[in-house]
Amino acid sequence: MIIKPDKIIRAKRKTVSITVDSSGRLIVRAPLRCSEARILAFIEEKSEWILKHRAKKAHLQSLLPSENLNGFQFLLEGKPAEICYFSGKRLVFYEENRCLYLPEGKGEESVQKWLKNRAKFMFSELVKLRANEMRVSYKEVRISSAKGRWGSCSQDNTLRFTFRLLYAPIAVIDYVVVHELAHTAHKNHGKAFWAMVEKHCPDWKIKRKWLKEHGYFMQIF
Ligand SMILES: [Zn+2]
Repeated sequence: MIIKPDKIIRAKRKTVSITVDSSGRLIVRAPLRCSEARILAFIEEKSEWILKHRAKKAHLQSLLPSENLNGFQFLLEGKPAEICYFSGKRLVFYEENRCLYLPEGKGEESVQKWLKNRAKFMFSELVKLRANEMRVSYKEVRISSAKGRWGSCSQDNTLRFTFRLLYAPIAVIDYVVVHELAHTAHKNHGKAFWAMVEKHCPDWKIKRKWLKEHGYFMQIF
């Protein structure tokens, strides 16, 4: 099979590079005077990589919500949940059937707002509890919309967590809380830092692995 580039971007550079964008398009970056033959040869050489990444992107796309949110399934605190349109006025979540009832006509923005509120309440409680156990103090808990990081701790010990962390199992959320709280005592990832994390969350490696494997969860909502 011959793979053709969807877009070639020429620039002042020395090497050819390829990326597959979120819709599976193959983008090639090439030097200004690079021949078509050299580009095609490069693509040929990387064909296995391209096919693998396209399959991955297609799979990811199938896990993300489309415009019609009705029936969309996702994980909430690590357990399956589903969005159901209804004729009510306010978004409501029923624990019994794990349905997030969304007023018809409302979209992602409403879901995000609801998730942020839930995250604020839940993460604040967890932080309070864990800070007590770890004997550390922090300034405040803030909820972010970050897509690149699950949590952070600033110089003044303000803790930030992305509301998207709410998709993870509670035990994983707990690890992120312990991780960021440990940063109030150690502003690095040194030995003392990990010793503190290990003490309060012995199986942190399993939880960190979960976060790595589910990085694409950041793309939901
Ligand atoms: Zn860290």
